[in-house]
Amino acid sequence: MKLSVKAKVTLWFTALMGAVSGLALALLLLVSQSVVDSTAMETLSQTVRDSLSQVGEEQGSLSLSGEFSFYRDGVYLLVYSKEEALLAGQLPGFFTGVEEPFQNGLTRGVDTPQGHCYVLDFFVPFGWEDGVWVRGIIPAGGAAQTSRNVMTLGAVALPLLLVLAAAGGYAVARRAFRPLDQMAATASAIQEGSDLSARIPVGKGDNEFTRLAGTFNQMLTRLEGSFQAEEQFASDASHELRTPVSVILGACEYGEKYDETPEERRETLEMIHRQAKKMAKLIGQLLTMTRMEQGTQPLERERVALDGLVRDVTGEPAFAGEHIALELEPVTAEGDSQLLGRVLGNLLENALRYGHREGEAAEVTVKTWGERGDALLSVADKGPGIPEGEREKIWQRFYQVDPSRTGEEGAGLGLSMARQIARLHGGDLTLESGPWGSRFTLKLPRK
Ligand code: ADP
Repeated sequence: MKLSVKAKVTLWFTALMGAVSGLALALLLLVSQSVVDSTAMETLSQTVRDSLSQVGEEQGSLSLSGEFSFYRDGVYLLVYSKEEALLAGQLPGFFTGVEEPFQNGLTRGVDTPQGHCYVLDFFVPFGWEDGVWVRGIIPAGGAAQTSRNVMTLGAVALPLLLVLAAAGGYAVARRAFRPLDQMAATASAIQEGSDLSARIPVGKGDNEFTRLAGTFNQMLTRLEGSFQAEEQFASDASHELRTPVSVILGACEYGEKYDETPEERRETLEMIHRQAKKMAKLIGQLLTMTRMEQGTQPLERERVALDGLVRDVTGEPAFAGEHIALELEPVTAEGDSQLLGRVLGNLLENALRYGHREGEAAEVTVKTWGERGDALLSVADKGPGIPEGEREKIWQRFYQVDPSRTGEEGAGLGLSMARQIARLHGGDLTLESGPWGSRFTLKLPRK
């Protein structure tokens, strides 16, 4: 059977209430019966003892003082002769025909055809020879009546109580579970409408539900953030790819129509080549970044001498003839030399491109050194530096401080990819910048 948690809680609660009140009722019955019983016996004993002084003898026959009463406080009083013949008093209806032997001073229960009663006898002696029995009888009907009352009360009150408990329990459970219902409703609304901007009302206080709602909302915020980033990324990437494609298309159309001399064709081809290279670079970066994100980028864990890596990369034709000073201490890191070479290449390109003042040649210094468990590499320039407000943003994909300065190359992906590579190695890439220039430092675990 499928039951909601609310129904289950209510059911348990009601069952528990039923058990507890049933137990309480039984206890009440037991206690009330014994209280009524002992009260009856107490009254009997008191009344009979009180009456003893009112019984006397006058000239050989029984004499009762004026205070003597045959029925007092529910107790029937009877006086019998020594031979157990009734001398005074009226035998109560329920006791007629009951043979109960006399016992001095002992209160006892006697079952009569019409119910239970208590009996107490005392022998009052007159002189040496003679005397009378005084017998008190009290019906125990009070106790039976009380238990009947309690039973009726229970029979009426218990179901009422259970209905009340069930209704109250369900109301409480419903109230308590309302945030959960809201959460489920919001979640399914998000699921159906795929609107990630919706949030669950958190409610007041600090309890399981508000915490759950808070966590849920945080998760939604993150989800929404990464969704937006994903969309932004896709739109930026297509935008960046469209530009070189349109330039290439334009150049092709123009060249087909108007290029006549080999010189003109060569120029057109060069332009196409540049744009195609830019596209190839961009696609390569996108692919590497996507693979790193998905964890499918193969990562070699080899010994990489950073000083050797710097010599190799700065010796590439792209950096020939540039002012690059080297201050290299031998240090070995663990990592993928190809990826690390791309990081260094990117930092060098940036330093040469952005790290100089108008009209001046770039002065770039590359250092390598070791520091405890870290292998470090820095690329410093003496350019204008990166403004304070931009220092965090340059790590974002496609972010460029001044896109016009980049010219045709680069799309703002270099630094974010470089940092991603550093972190994939268990290291980091950081920036210090000021009016003196900029310094990027790559930190890697030492081998
Ligand atoms: P790209 O070089 O393709 O524009 P990057 O991610 O490599 O993309 O760099 C992002 C931005 O950071 C650059 O556009 C540039 O504005 C800024 N930047 C990077 N390196 C330097 C540097 N050494 N000095 C000043 N600005 C820099």
